[in-house]
Amino acid sequence: MAAMNYNWISDLNPKLSNTMVIGIIIGKTDIKHSPARKDARVDRFVFGFTVKDSPDFFINVLVLGSDSFINTMSNSYNIGDVVTIENALVAIKDSEKEERFCPTTPSPYRLILSEFHSQVHHCVDMHTKDRLLPLIHIPVKDSKDFYNLGDIQASGNNLEGSFINILAAVKGIGEMKLFQKSDGCPGQRMEVKLFDGFVSSFSLLCWDREAIKQVQTSVCKGTVIFIADAKITFDSFRNGMTATVNSKTIITVSPDMQEADLLYRYAAEMLESGALEQDDMPLESISAVYTVAQLKGKIQESPETVYGITISFITGFDLDSSVSKVIKTRCTNCKFQVTEGMQYCSNQLCPGKGQVFSSTTGFDLLMDLSDRTGTLQCNLRSPVADAMLGCTTEQFTCLTENDRSALKWKFLLETCKAYVKMFRSTRTKSGFRAVILSCSLVDTDEATQHTSALLNED
Ligand SMILES: [Zn+2]
Repeated sequence: MAAMNYNWISDLNPKLSNTMVIGIIIGKTDIKHSPARKDARVDRFVFGFTVKDSPDFFINVLVLGSDSFINTMSNSYNIGDVVTIENALVAIKDSEKEERFCPTTPSPYRLILSEFHSQVHHCVDMHTKDRLLPLIHIPVKDSKDFYNLGDIQASGNNLEGSFINILAAVKGIGEMKLFQKSDGCPGQRMEVKLFDGFVSSFSLLCWDREAIKQVQTSVCKGTVIFIADAKITFDSFRNGMTATVNSKTIITVSPDMQEADLLYRYAAEMLESGALEQDDMPLESISAVYTVAQLKGKIQESPETVYGITISFITGFDLDSSVSKVIKTRCTNCKFQVTEGMQYCSNQLCPGKGQVFSSTTGFDLLMDLSDRTGTLQCNLRSPVADAMLGCTTEQFTCLTENDRSALKWKFLLETCKAYVKMFRSTRTKSGFRAVILSCSLVDTDEATQHTSALLNED
């Protein structure tokens, strides 16, 4: 393998000529049009990216050129690519301007890459690539310097307008919405919902094409991200604080830090249990009636939560099995399930850590709903279960085995109208989870009505 004479970013200075930098792209901005000055013949276009070549060193690169050059460059190089940059100009950075519009870097310089003097290509040296690829997971700020979502919410307006670092997990990614900006140019917008051990939902807004692309290609539900220099604003529409990705922001996906590992495990557990999905949808707004097979089909097609009503028979309802299978105890602070008799929460990220332990006990059991098209296994929990059964968990634990069996037979094989919420889950065999939002027995007439309507639709 040929030895490569490249420059470390930390060694760059304006006196160097024929520079060669090899680094991984950790941030990238949208293309901007800068109108021709009087002395220039053509309009210029610019975009920027940030490259890193060691755990602590990175630099901003400004790319200048014609429309076609800039478009080709921007399309060819993306966040996560390892690139070789030759003959870029090392310039002293305009601190004030850089501070306002570009990611904060430890370098006093920036690289200027021009159409006719500089070259960029993908690094093909596997040895160098292997060394550089892990750097993308190292946050660009001190890994102790971040806010959790609870701190941001608690700060009220004190953080308004400030740039801060955030560590959070992704709860959901909204669709990209296109619109026309006031200048007539096309704009885009995407909302990412974040959560952590303190806040169950927090909005991160992306208005830049590149930020949206990064989220869409490298982030999914449950991913932990470190957002360096997100802008905090009060959003009157949501009546709360929100964070916005801007040209200073660098998002580190799956950051290499201990707090992120803990948060990742917590996030997986929370998303899996459905505990985050507090019943956000009012029952009145759920009106579509489906067969079991139709519900299963819908969740297979949709990454989003599916709501619907099903008229079916209760074919499984283990009310008379051991109480521990019917009633479960969860930590009040983080909703983690607590093993019976334990007096502490085993979730390392629990916001109630160090405080007096408190837990909530509620129904949490499985119920099978069947119709002629199939069977759907559902989770039935408090307070829905209490309302359906007509008893509290305390009353239930006092029942004799015979009483519990009698209660079970009040429902088993009867026809019910159930409001169901379904969402994707990687830990169930079926790939989804169904949760009962409301369930009541119906008389056969009502059931026949619904069933015949469904049959006619087939
Ligand atoms: Zn807890």
